[in-house]
Amino acid sequence: MTKNHHEIIICGAGMIGLTFALLMAERKIKVCIIDKNDKRSLFAQQDNRTTAISQGSYRIFRKLGIWKKLKNAFQPINQIFVSEGLGSHDINFNYKNLREGPLGFIVDNKLIRETLLNEVLKSKYVSFKDGTEIININNEDIDNSFLETKNFDLYFKMLVAADGRFSKTRYHANIKYYYHDYQQTAFVFNISHSNKHHGVALERFFPTGPLAVLPVNNSKINQSSIVWTVDTKVATDKNFKENFKEEFEKKYDNFFGKLINLSEVKKYPLNVFSCYDIFKKNIVLIGDACQAIHPIAGQGFNLGLRDAFILAKTLAKSKELGLEPFNLNLMKSYENMRKIDKTLLVNATHNLNGLFSGSGKFKSLLRKTGLRIFSQSNFLKNQSMLFAMGLRNLEA
Ligand SMILES: Cc1cc2nc3c(=O)[nH]c(=O)nc-3n(C[C@H](O)[C@H](O)[C@H](O)COP(=O)(O)OP(=O)(O)OC[C@H]3O[C@@H](n4cnc5c(N)ncnc54)[C@H](O)[C@@H]3O)c2cc1C
Repeated sequence: MTKNHHEIIICGAGMIGLTFALLMAERKIKVCIIDKNDKRSLFAQQDNRTTAISQGSYRIFRKLGIWKKLKNAFQPINQIFVSEGLGSHDINFNYKNLREGPLGFIVDNKLIRETLLNEVLKSKYVSFKDGTEIININNEDIDNSFLETKNFDLYFKMLVAADGRFSKTRYHANIKYYYHDYQQTAFVFNISHSNKHHGVALERFFPTGPLAVLPVNNSKINQSSIVWTVDTKVATDKNFKENFKEEFEKKYDNFFGKLINLSEVKKYPLNVFSCYDIFKKNIVLIGDACQAIHPIAGQGFNLGLRDAFILAKTLAKSKELGLEPFNLNLMKSYENMRKIDKTLLVNATHNLNGLFSGSGKFKSLLRKTGLRIFSQSNFLKNQSMLFAMGLRNLEA
Protein backbone atom coordinates (compact mmCIF):
# COMPACT_ATOMS: atom_id res chain seq x y z
CA MET A 1 0.00 0.00 0.00
CA THR A 2 1.33 3.43 -0.85
CA LYS A 3 1.13 6.31 1.60
CA ASN A 4 -2.30 7.38 0.41
CA HIS A 5 -3.75 3.92 -0.16
CA HIS A 6 -5.33 2.21 2.83
CA GLU A 7 -7.38 -0.93 3.23
CA ILE A 8 -9.50 0.64 5.97
CA ILE A 9 -9.91 4.33 6.77
CA ILE A 10 -11.73 5.48 9.91
CA CYS A 11 -13.19 8.97 9.79
CA GLY A 12 -13.42 10.50 13.29
CA ALA A 13 -11.15 10.15 16.31
CA GLY A 14 -13.84 10.37 18.97
CA MET A 15 -14.20 7.70 21.65
CA ILE A 16 -15.76 5.26 19.15
CA GLY A 17 -13.38 5.78 16.21
CA LEU A 18 -10.34 5.53 18.50
CA THR A 19 -11.60 2.35 20.20
CA PHE A 20 -12.38 0.81 16.83
CA ALA A 21 -8.82 1.57 15.66
CA LEU A 22 -7.45 -0.21 18.76
CA LEU A 23 -9.76 -3.18 18.27
CA MET A 24 -8.39 -3.53 14.74
CA ALA A 25 -4.81 -3.14 15.96
CA GLU A 26 -5.45 -5.88 18.54
CA ARG A 27 -6.26 -8.13 15.57
CA LYS A 28 -3.09 -6.94 13.79
CA ILE A 29 -5.08 -5.21 11.06
CA LYS A 30 -3.71 -1.92 9.79
CA VAL A 31 -5.99 1.12 9.68
CA CYS A 32 -5.69 4.82 8.97
CA ILE A 33 -7.68 7.19 11.18
CA ILE A 34 -8.41 10.79 10.24
CA ASP A 35 -9.91 13.66 12.21
CA LYS A 36 -10.70 17.23 11.22
CA ASN A 37 -9.00 18.50 14.39
CA ASP A 38 -5.26 18.48 14.93
CA LYS A 39 -3.75 16.35 17.71
CA ARG A 40 -3.23 19.29 20.02
CA SER A 41 -6.86 20.34 19.94
CA LEU A 42 -8.01 16.74 20.25
CA PHE A 43 -6.03 16.49 23.50
CA ALA A 44 -7.21 19.91 24.65
CA GLN A 45 -10.91 19.35 23.91
CA GLN A 46 -13.14 20.66 26.66
CA ASP A 47 -15.64 17.98 27.61
CA ASN A 48 -16.94 18.17 31.16
CA ARG A 49 -19.14 15.09 30.70
CA THR A 50 -18.70 11.73 32.31
CA THR A 51 -19.74 8.48 30.67
CA ALA A 52 -21.58 5.68 32.41
CA ILE A 53 -19.60 2.72 31.08
CA SER A 54 -21.60 -0.50 31.20
CA GLN A 55 -20.19 -3.85 32.40
CA GLY A 56 -20.11 -5.03 28.77
CA SER A 57 -18.06 -1.98 27.65
CA TYR A 58 -15.80 -2.32 30.69
CA ARG A 59 -15.02 -5.90 29.64
CA ILE A 60 -14.10 -4.73 26.12
CA PHE A 61 -11.85 -1.97 27.54
CA ARG A 62 -10.27 -4.39 30.02
CA LYS A 63 -9.39 -6.87 27.28
CA LEU A 64 -7.92 -4.05 25.18
CA GLY A 65 -5.71 -3.01 28.11
CA ILE A 66 -7.42 0.40 28.29
CA TRP A 67 -8.98 -0.10 31.71
CA LYS A 68 -5.73 -0.36 33.61
CA LYS A 69 -4.54 2.85 31.92
CA LEU A 70 -7.43 4.74 33.54
CA LYS A 71 -5.41 4.51 36.78
CA ASN A 72 -8.35 3.75 39.06
CA ALA A 73 -10.00 7.05 38.14
CA PHE A 74 -13.38 5.40 37.72
CA GLN A 75 -16.30 5.10 40.08
CA PRO A 76 -18.22 1.81 40.30
CA ILE A 77 -22.02 2.18 40.34
CA ASN A 78 -23.39 -0.06 43.08
CA GLN A 79 -27.00 1.06 43.11
CA ILE A 80 -29.35 3.13 40.99
CA PHE A 81 -32.39 4.77 42.55
CA VAL A 82 -35.18 5.71 40.16
CA SER A 83 -38.16 7.79 41.15
CA GLU A 84 -40.87 9.97 39.74
CA GLY A 85 -40.23 13.48 40.99
CA LEU A 86 -39.09 13.76 44.57
CA GLY A 87 -41.07 10.66 45.58
CA SER A 88 -39.36 7.98 47.61
CA HIS A 89 -37.28 5.69 45.44
CA ASP A 90 -39.70 3.76 43.32
CA ILE A 91 -37.11 1.35 41.99
CA ASN A 92 -33.78 0.36 43.45
CA PHE A 93 -31.39 -1.46 41.13
CA ASN A 94 -28.71 -3.11 43.24
CA TYR A 95 -25.61 -4.83 41.88
CA LYS A 96 -25.92 -7.43 44.64
CA ASN A 97 -28.98 -8.90 42.89
CA LEU A 98 -26.74 -10.16 40.09
CA ARG A 99 -23.32 -11.74 40.18
CA GLU A 100 -21.83 -9.63 37.44
CA GLY A 101 -19.95 -6.94 39.38
CA PRO A 102 -20.91 -3.24 39.54
CA LEU A 103 -23.82 -2.01 37.40
CA GLY A 104 -21.35 0.19 35.54
CA PHE A 105 -18.61 2.74 36.05
CA ILE A 106 -18.55 6.51 35.82
CA VAL A 107 -15.46 7.84 34.02
CA ASP A 108 -14.47 11.34 32.82
CA ASN A 109 -14.82 11.68 29.05
CA LYS A 110 -11.58 13.65 28.89
CA LEU A 111 -9.65 10.83 30.55
CA ILE A 112 -11.16 8.16 28.27
CA ARG A 113 -10.39 10.16 25.15
CA GLU A 114 -6.82 11.02 26.23
CA THR A 115 -6.10 7.40 27.13
CA LEU A 116 -7.42 6.12 23.81
CA LEU A 117 -5.54 8.79 21.85
CA ASN A 118 -2.24 7.94 23.55
CA GLU A 119 -2.71 4.25 22.78
CA VAL A 120 -3.62 4.94 19.15
CA LEU A 121 -0.57 7.17 18.69
CA LYS A 122 1.67 4.41 20.05
CA SER A 123 0.21 1.66 17.85
CA LYS A 124 2.24 0.46 14.87
CA TYR A 125 -0.97 -0.70 13.20
CA VAL A 126 -2.62 2.74 13.18
CA SER A 127 -1.59 5.70 11.06
CA PHE A 128 -3.10 8.98 12.21
CA LYS A 129 -3.86 11.87 9.88
CA ASP A 130 -5.02 14.76 12.02
CA GLY A 131 -6.28 18.10 10.71
CA THR A 132 -7.88 16.18 7.83
CA GLU A 133 -11.47 16.81 6.84
CA ILE A 134 -13.41 14.99 4.15
CA ILE A 135 -14.55 17.28 1.33
CA ASN A 136 -15.97 14.63 -0.93
CA ILE A 137 -16.17 10.86 -1.33
CA ASN A 138 -15.98 8.92 -4.58
CA ASN A 139 -16.96 5.28 -4.23
CA GLU A 140 -18.90 4.61 -7.39
CA ASP A 141 -16.17 2.16 -8.26
CA ILE A 142 -15.59 0.10 -5.12
CA ASP A 143 -12.15 -0.95 -6.40
CA ASN A 144 -11.12 2.64 -6.86
CA SER A 145 -12.73 4.45 -3.95
CA PHE A 146 -11.17 7.58 -2.54
CA LEU A 147 -11.98 10.51 -0.36
CA GLU A 148 -10.94 14.03 -1.13
CA THR A 149 -9.47 16.28 1.53
CA LYS A 150 -8.11 19.81 1.20
CA ASN A 151 -4.56 18.65 0.59
CA PHE A 152 -4.66 15.12 -0.77
CA ASP A 153 -6.83 12.17 -1.81
CA LEU A 154 -6.95 9.04 0.30
CA TYR A 155 -7.82 5.72 -1.31
CA PHE A 156 -9.65 3.06 0.66
CA LYS A 157 -11.27 -0.34 0.35
CA MET A 158 -13.55 0.33 3.27
CA LEU A 159 -14.46 3.59 4.98
CA VAL A 160 -15.69 3.43 8.59
CA ALA A 161 -17.56 6.58 9.56
CA ALA A 162 -17.21 7.43 13.25
CA ASP A 163 -17.58 11.17 12.79
CA GLY A 164 -20.40 11.72 15.25
CA ARG A 165 -24.04 12.78 15.20
CA PHE A 166 -23.58 15.38 12.43
CA SER A 167 -21.58 12.93 10.28
CA LYS A 168 -20.41 14.41 6.96
CA THR A 169 -19.53 10.93 5.74
CA ARG A 170 -23.17 9.95 6.19
CA TYR A 171 -24.13 12.97 4.09
CA HIS A 172 -21.63 12.19 1.31
CA ALA A 173 -22.70 8.54 1.32
CA ASN A 174 -26.31 9.69 1.03
CA ILE A 175 -27.48 7.48 3.90
CA LYS A 176 -30.93 8.49 5.09
CA TYR A 177 -31.87 8.77 8.74
CA TYR A 178 -34.69 9.48 11.16
CA TYR A 179 -34.24 12.77 13.02
CA HIS A 180 -36.19 14.25 15.89
CA ASP A 181 -35.47 17.37 17.91
CA TYR A 182 -36.53 16.73 21.52
CA GLN A 183 -36.75 20.47 22.23
CA GLN A 184 -34.82 19.67 25.39
CA THR A 185 -31.47 20.88 26.70
CA ALA A 186 -29.13 18.81 28.84
CA PHE A 187 -27.24 20.85 31.44
CA VAL A 188 -24.02 19.09 32.41
CA PHE A 189 -21.95 20.03 35.46
CA ASN A 190 -20.35 18.66 38.62
CA ILE A 191 -21.46 19.24 42.17
CA SER A 192 -19.81 18.67 45.51
CA HIS A 193 -22.00 17.74 48.45
CA SER A 194 -21.68 17.20 52.18
CA ASN A 195 -22.39 13.43 52.29
CA LYS A 196 -20.66 10.47 50.63
CA HIS A 197 -22.40 8.93 47.61
CA HIS A 198 -21.35 5.30 48.27
CA GLY A 199 -21.50 4.55 44.56
CA VAL A 200 -25.20 5.42 44.32
CA ALA A 201 -26.65 6.97 41.16
CA LEU A 202 -30.00 8.72 41.09
CA GLU A 203 -32.44 9.24 38.23
CA ARG A 204 -35.40 11.47 39.00
CA PHE A 205 -38.09 12.03 36.41
CA PHE A 206 -39.85 15.39 36.30
CA PRO A 207 -42.44 16.61 33.78
CA THR A 208 -39.82 19.13 32.55
CA GLY A 209 -37.23 16.34 32.01
CA PRO A 210 -35.08 13.84 33.94
CA LEU A 211 -32.28 14.61 36.38
CA ALA A 212 -29.37 12.17 36.67
CA VAL A 213 -26.94 12.42 39.61
CA LEU A 214 -23.94 10.18 38.95
CA PRO A 215 -21.25 9.33 41.52
CA VAL A 216 -17.70 10.51 40.76
CA ASN A 217 -14.42 9.08 42.06
CA ASN A 218 -12.72 11.88 43.97
CA SER A 219 -10.60 11.17 47.02
CA LYS A 220 -10.70 14.80 48.21
CA ILE A 221 -14.34 15.82 47.98
CA ASN A 222 -17.78 14.19 47.76
CA GLN A 223 -18.57 14.74 44.10
CA SER A 224 -21.28 13.80 41.61
CA SER A 225 -21.74 14.53 37.95
CA ILE A 226 -25.06 15.98 36.82
CA VAL A 227 -26.99 15.54 33.59
CA TRP A 228 -30.13 17.61 34.00
CA THR A 229 -32.51 17.57 31.05
CA VAL A 230 -34.93 20.46 30.82
CA ASP A 231 -37.54 21.43 28.18
CA THR A 232 -35.86 24.09 26.04
CA LYS A 233 -38.85 26.39 26.58
CA VAL A 234 -38.15 26.30 30.34
CA ALA A 235 -34.37 26.34 29.88
CA THR A 236 -34.49 29.59 27.90
CA ASP A 237 -36.86 31.31 30.32
CA LYS A 238 -35.27 34.41 31.89
CA ASN A 239 -36.44 33.50 35.37
CA PHE A 240 -35.04 29.96 35.10
CA LYS A 241 -31.67 31.21 33.85
CA GLU A 242 -31.39 33.78 36.64
CA ASN A 243 -32.29 31.23 39.32
CA PHE A 244 -30.53 28.21 37.84
CA LYS A 245 -28.84 27.09 41.08
CA GLU A 246 -32.02 27.42 43.14
CA GLU A 247 -34.04 25.56 40.49
CA PHE A 248 -31.49 22.77 40.52
CA GLU A 249 -31.49 22.59 44.32
CA LYS A 250 -35.26 22.06 44.28
CA LYS A 251 -34.81 18.98 42.10
CA TYR A 252 -31.67 17.72 43.84
CA ASP A 253 -33.38 18.08 47.21
CA ASN A 254 -30.23 17.42 49.25
CA PHE A 255 -30.09 13.81 48.09
CA PHE A 256 -26.40 13.53 49.06
CA GLY A 257 -26.65 16.20 51.73
CA LYS A 258 -26.07 19.92 51.38
CA LEU A 259 -24.97 21.27 48.00
CA ILE A 260 -21.51 22.80 48.51
CA ASN A 261 -20.38 23.80 45.06
CA LEU A 262 -21.60 23.77 41.48
CA SER A 263 -19.07 23.80 38.61
CA GLU A 264 -19.27 25.57 35.25
CA VAL A 265 -22.38 24.46 33.33
CA LYS A 266 -22.33 23.22 29.73
CA LYS A 267 -25.42 22.84 27.54
CA TYR A 268 -26.23 20.13 24.99
CA PRO A 269 -29.31 20.41 22.75
CA LEU A 270 -30.92 16.97 22.56
CA ASN A 271 -31.98 15.15 19.41
CA VAL A 272 -31.99 11.69 17.90
CA PHE A 273 -30.44 10.54 14.62
CA SER A 274 -31.09 6.97 13.57
CA CYS A 275 -29.93 5.70 10.17
CA TYR A 276 -32.14 3.47 8.07
CA ASP A 277 -29.04 1.75 6.67
CA ILE A 278 -25.96 0.75 8.63
CA PHE A 279 -23.80 0.59 5.50
CA LYS A 280 -23.97 1.62 1.89
CA LYS A 281 -21.51 0.06 -0.54
CA ASN A 282 -18.11 0.13 1.16
CA ILE A 283 -19.01 2.81 3.72
CA VAL A 284 -20.16 1.68 7.16
CA LEU A 285 -21.40 3.90 9.99
CA ILE A 286 -20.63 3.26 13.67
CA GLY A 287 -21.30 5.09 16.94
CA ASP A 288 -23.19 8.38 16.91
CA ALA A 289 -22.73 8.63 13.13
CA CYS A 290 -25.11 5.66 12.84
CA GLN A 291 -27.37 6.35 15.82
CA ALA A 292 -27.17 9.22 18.28
CA ILE A 293 -29.68 8.67 21.05
CA HIS A 294 -31.16 10.54 24.00
CA PRO A 295 -28.84 10.38 27.05
CA ILE A 296 -31.75 9.41 29.34
CA ALA A 297 -30.31 5.94 29.98
CA GLY A 298 -26.61 6.75 29.46
CA GLN A 299 -26.30 4.21 26.63
CA GLY A 300 -25.09 6.04 23.49
CA PHE A 301 -21.41 5.30 23.91
CA ASN A 302 -22.05 1.72 25.05
CA LEU A 303 -24.19 1.08 21.98
CA GLY A 304 -21.53 2.58 19.69
CA LEU A 305 -18.84 0.50 21.34
CA ARG A 306 -20.78 -2.65 20.51
CA ASP A 307 -20.86 -1.47 16.85
CA ALA A 308 -17.08 -1.11 16.95
CA PHE A 309 -16.55 -4.46 18.65
CA ILE A 310 -18.73 -6.50 16.30
CA LEU A 311 -17.44 -4.69 13.20
CA ALA A 312 -13.84 -5.42 14.24
CA LYS A 313 -14.75 -9.10 14.64
CA THR A 314 -16.43 -9.11 11.21
CA LEU A 315 -13.45 -7.51 9.48
CA ALA A 316 -11.07 -9.92 11.22
CA LYS A 317 -13.17 -12.73 9.80
CA SER A 318 -12.89 -11.38 6.24
CA LYS A 319 -9.14 -11.18 6.66
CA GLU A 320 -9.00 -14.72 8.01
CA LEU A 321 -10.98 -15.95 4.99
CA GLY A 322 -8.64 -14.07 2.66
CA LEU A 323 -11.40 -11.70 1.54
CA GLU A 324 -11.32 -7.97 0.86
CA PRO A 325 -12.34 -5.81 3.88
CA PHE A 326 -15.63 -5.05 2.16
CA ASN A 327 -17.53 -8.25 1.56
CA LEU A 328 -21.26 -7.95 1.00
CA ASN A 329 -22.20 -11.19 2.75
CA LEU A 330 -20.13 -10.44 5.82
CA MET A 331 -21.47 -6.89 5.96
CA LYS A 332 -25.01 -8.23 5.80
CA SER A 333 -24.24 -10.55 8.67
CA TYR A 334 -22.78 -7.57 10.59
CA GLU A 335 -25.98 -5.67 9.90
CA ASN A 336 -28.09 -8.57 11.19
CA MET A 337 -26.02 -8.84 14.35
CA ARG A 338 -26.44 -5.15 15.12
CA LYS A 339 -30.01 -4.42 14.03
CA ILE A 340 -31.96 -5.59 17.09
CA ASP A 341 -29.68 -3.98 19.68
CA LYS A 342 -29.75 -0.64 17.81
CA THR A 343 -33.49 -0.64 17.13
CA LEU A 344 -34.30 -1.60 20.72
CA LEU A 345 -32.18 1.14 22.26
CA VAL A 346 -33.17 3.90 19.84
CA ASN A 347 -36.85 3.11 20.50
CA ALA A 348 -36.48 2.46 24.22
CA THR A 349 -34.72 5.77 24.91
CA HIS A 350 -37.10 7.68 22.63
CA ASN A 351 -40.20 6.19 24.29
CA LEU A 352 -38.82 6.41 27.81
CA ASN A 353 -38.20 10.11 27.31
CA GLY A 354 -41.71 10.54 25.86
CA LEU A 355 -43.29 8.70 28.78
CA PHE A 356 -41.32 10.36 31.55
CA SER A 357 -41.41 13.92 30.21
CA GLY A 358 -44.52 16.04 30.12
CA SER A 359 -47.49 16.18 32.41
CA GLY A 360 -51.05 14.87 32.07
CA LYS A 361 -53.04 12.53 34.29
CA PHE A 362 -52.89 9.54 31.93
CA LYS A 363 -49.11 9.71 31.52
CA SER A 364 -48.64 10.13 35.24
CA LEU A 365 -50.82 7.08 35.94
CA LEU A 366 -48.89 5.06 33.36
CA ARG A 367 -45.57 6.10 34.90
CA LYS A 368 -46.65 5.26 38.44
CA THR A 369 -48.13 1.90 37.40
CA GLY A 370 -45.03 1.06 35.35
CA LEU A 371 -42.67 1.91 38.20
CA ARG A 372 -44.78 -0.09 40.67
CA ILE A 373 -44.86 -3.19 38.46
CA PHE A 374 -41.12 -2.90 37.93
CA SER A 375 -40.27 -2.41 41.59
CA GLN A 376 -42.28 -5.51 42.56
CA SER A 377 -40.76 -7.82 39.96
CA ASN A 378 -37.22 -9.01 40.58
CA PHE A 379 -37.31 -10.76 37.21
CA LEU A 380 -38.06 -7.50 35.34
CA LYS A 381 -35.49 -5.60 37.36
CA ASN A 382 -32.77 -8.20 36.78
CA GLN A 383 -33.48 -8.50 33.06
CA SER A 384 -33.40 -4.74 32.53
CA MET A 385 -30.22 -4.47 34.61
CA LEU A 386 -28.54 -7.10 32.43
CA PHE A 387 -29.66 -5.23 29.31
CA ALA A 388 -28.47 -1.84 30.58
CA MET A 389 -25.19 -3.45 31.68
CA GLY A 390 -24.64 -4.48 28.06
CA LEU A 391 -24.65 -8.19 28.94
CA ARG A 392 -27.75 -9.17 26.99
CA ASN A 393 -27.01 -7.43 23.73
CA LEU A 394 -23.56 -8.57 22.73
CA GLU A 395 -22.39 -11.75 21.12
CA ALA A 396 -18.91 -11.49 22.61
C1 LIG B 1 -25.20 15.05 27.79
C2 LIG B 1 -24.79 13.71 27.29
C3 LIG B 1 -24.47 12.69 28.20
C4 LIG B 1 -24.10 11.42 27.76
N1 LIG B 1 -23.84 10.44 28.66
C5 LIG B 1 -23.57 9.18 28.23
C6 LIG B 1 -23.34 8.11 29.15
O1 LIG B 1 -23.36 8.29 30.36
N2 LIG B 1 -23.11 6.85 28.67
C7 LIG B 1 -23.09 6.60 27.32
O2 LIG B 1 -22.90 5.43 26.92
N3 LIG B 1 -23.26 7.60 26.43
C8 LIG B 1 -23.50 8.86 26.83
N4 LIG B 1 -23.68 9.88 25.92
C9 LIG B 1 -23.49 9.59 24.49
C10 LIG B 1 -22.00 9.61 24.10
O3 LIG B 1 -21.40 10.80 24.54
C11 LIG B 1 -21.84 9.46 22.59
O4 LIG B 1 -22.59 8.36 22.16
C12 LIG B 1 -20.38 9.26 22.19
O5 LIG B 1 -19.57 10.29 22.68
C13 LIG B 1 -20.26 9.21 20.67
O6 LIG B 1 -18.91 9.09 20.31
P1 LIG B 1 -18.50 9.09 18.78
O7 LIG B 1 -17.03 8.80 18.77
O8 LIG B 1 -19.39 8.24 17.97
O9 LIG B 1 -18.78 10.58 18.26
P2 LIG B 1 -18.07 11.97 18.67
O10 LIG B 1 -17.68 11.99 20.07
O11 LIG B 1 -18.99 13.05 18.19
O12 LIG B 1 -16.71 12.01 17.80
C14 LIG B 1 -16.70 12.31 16.44
C15 LIG B 1 -15.27 12.62 16.00
O13 LIG B 1 -15.30 12.83 14.59
C16 LIG B 1 -14.59 14.02 14.25
N5 LIG B 1 -15.20 14.58 13.04
C17 LIG B 1 -16.44 15.12 12.93
N6 LIG B 1 -16.66 15.49 11.66
C18 LIG B 1 -15.55 15.17 10.95
C19 LIG B 1 -15.18 15.30 9.57
N7 LIG B 1 -16.02 15.87 8.68
N8 LIG B 1 -13.97 14.88 9.18
C20 LIG B 1 -13.12 14.33 10.09
N9 LIG B 1 -13.41 14.19 11.41
C21 LIG B 1 -14.61 14.59 11.82
C22 LIG B 1 -14.75 14.94 15.47
O14 LIG B 1 -13.70 15.88 15.55
C23 LIG B 1 -14.71 13.92 16.62
O15 LIG B 1 -13.39 13.69 17.05
C24 LIG B 1 -24.04 11.15 26.35
C25 LIG B 1 -24.35 12.17 25.43
C26 LIG B 1 -24.72 13.42 25.89
C27 LIG B 1 -25.05 14.51 24.88
